Amino acid sequence: MAHIFRAPPDVAVAREKLFNPTELQTWKPEQYDTFWPYATNFWSHRRSTPLTDTQGGARTSYYYCRLYRKEQAKSKGAGERKKTIRRHPPCGKKIQVVTVWDAGVPCRYEISGYGNVPEHNHTMDDLDAIKRNQRIKDVVAASVQDGFRPAEIADAVKASHRPEAAAELTAAGGTYFERQDVINAGLKWKKLHPDHRFLGPRFQMLDQWQACAEWAEAQGYLVQNITAIRQADKLLTYGTVWAAEHRVNILRLRGHLTLMDSTHDTNWLGWYLYTIAVRDESGSWRPCIHFLAETEDGDILAEAFQVVKKWCGGRGGWRLRYMLTDDSAAEQRAVRLAFQGLEEGITEISHLLCVFHSEQTLKRNFSGPRYKRTYQHLRSALRYRKTGAGVEESIRLAINAAPEEKQSYIYREWWATRQQWALGYRTFSPLLLQITTTSPIEGYHSHLKAKGTKTLMSRFSLEGIAKHADAIDKE
Ligand SMILES: [Zn+2]
Repeated sequence: MAHIFRAPPDVAVAREKLFNPTELQTWKPEQYDTFWPYATNFWSHRRSTPLTDTQGGARTSYYYCRLYRKEQAKSKGAGERKKTIRRHPPCGKKIQVVTVWDAGVPCRYEISGYGNVPEHNHTMDDLDAIKRNQRIKDVVAASVQDGFRPAEIADAVKASHRPEAAAELTAAGGTYFERQDVINAGLKWKKLHPDHRFLGPRFQMLDQWQACAEWAEAQGYLVQNITAIRQADKLLTYGTVWAAEHRVNILRLRGHLTLMDSTHDTNWLGWYLYTIAVRDESGSWRPCIHFLAETEDGDILAEAFQVVKKWCGGRGGWRLRYMLTDDSAAEQRAVRLAFQGLEEGITEISHLLCVFHSEQTLKRNFSGPRYKRTYQHLRSALRYRKTGAGVEESIRLAINAAPEEKQSYIYREWWATRQQWALGYRTFSPLLLQITTTSPIEGYHSHLKAKGTKTLMSRFSLEGIAKHADAIDKE
């Protein structure tokens, strides 16, 4: 998250004025609306007079210092009571705010002292320490609703690595802002929106999204909540990526050929579970990264890849050369989006397709006697031709043998992508010839599902499925 808390440059001066109005102040509505939210931690609203006329009438509101106590004398009593006395003595400072109306809208605010206490018996900083003002709360609440985690929000508000941001927050009354403020805002928001029928599964979803990341964080894992705007419909889509640090290391060292696959039906929200796996030095497949994504599209997947790249140490840290997946268009697009190859100054990534899945697709599209010869030529191109030239020849033969209506399909979907699916282009590498399918991950996913019944899985929260996968990883 970027630095999210901004305040107008004159906020410190305005707060000073609103803290201790020594003479009558007149505020324009836009000024008042801008700065009053920064001063709400000074004052408690006591009462307001009724507004009789919006066409030239006025209403007066009375505010008492937040440290005002009615029983000022009693708190000085002896014994047990003493321990509960606040750090600050009660303060009797009061103000009144007169809202003057004209033509149906407030046209000015007149603020002045009220009562017989001329000024506070404490500093503004004392009040900033006790309570956060409305403006800070609003910024935090908006991020809570967007589903960011408390730690992320706290960091984004403080932006402590930027001194000017810290100064801005202090000037705006946020000297004592801390993560607990974000947690409180979250609790308050949940309390205000308890009805899931009204808010729909979206609320449930953001809640789960946050809980899942908090679980991973508590395990000491690397975790990041991600969002993306889908290119297809411009909708916001969500995901979360997590990994144990030592597994990220395995990916970094062994990620030359990386397998990725997704599986569905693992949780109540219907999010897709993705696993990225590589072979370790003893030749066993190790799941390194997991992520959950609300939708199966290239944009959210690319976002997940960016996170993984960052964890691996930035550009070139994940020395990916070959990515092997099934023929999902989204996964291919994500790899193109996230790995710019030579443009980014790293090796070009080749996206290879699982031979088993390619063969299944061939079978589906060319079943029956009408397509028999076409199918045979394409299957030969897929599995048996040993050179690029051989692959091309077989595809040409397949096109010639195909009925007219299939010819352009073969040209578009198979000829154009031949380097991704035909084994003839992988003969230079024993590793690529040996690992031709995504079945290691599919095996892992079926194992994951076999360990939980279908009913159980369908009731899993995001946190639930993450925990479940974690238990399988630790077997
Ligand atoms: Zn006071």
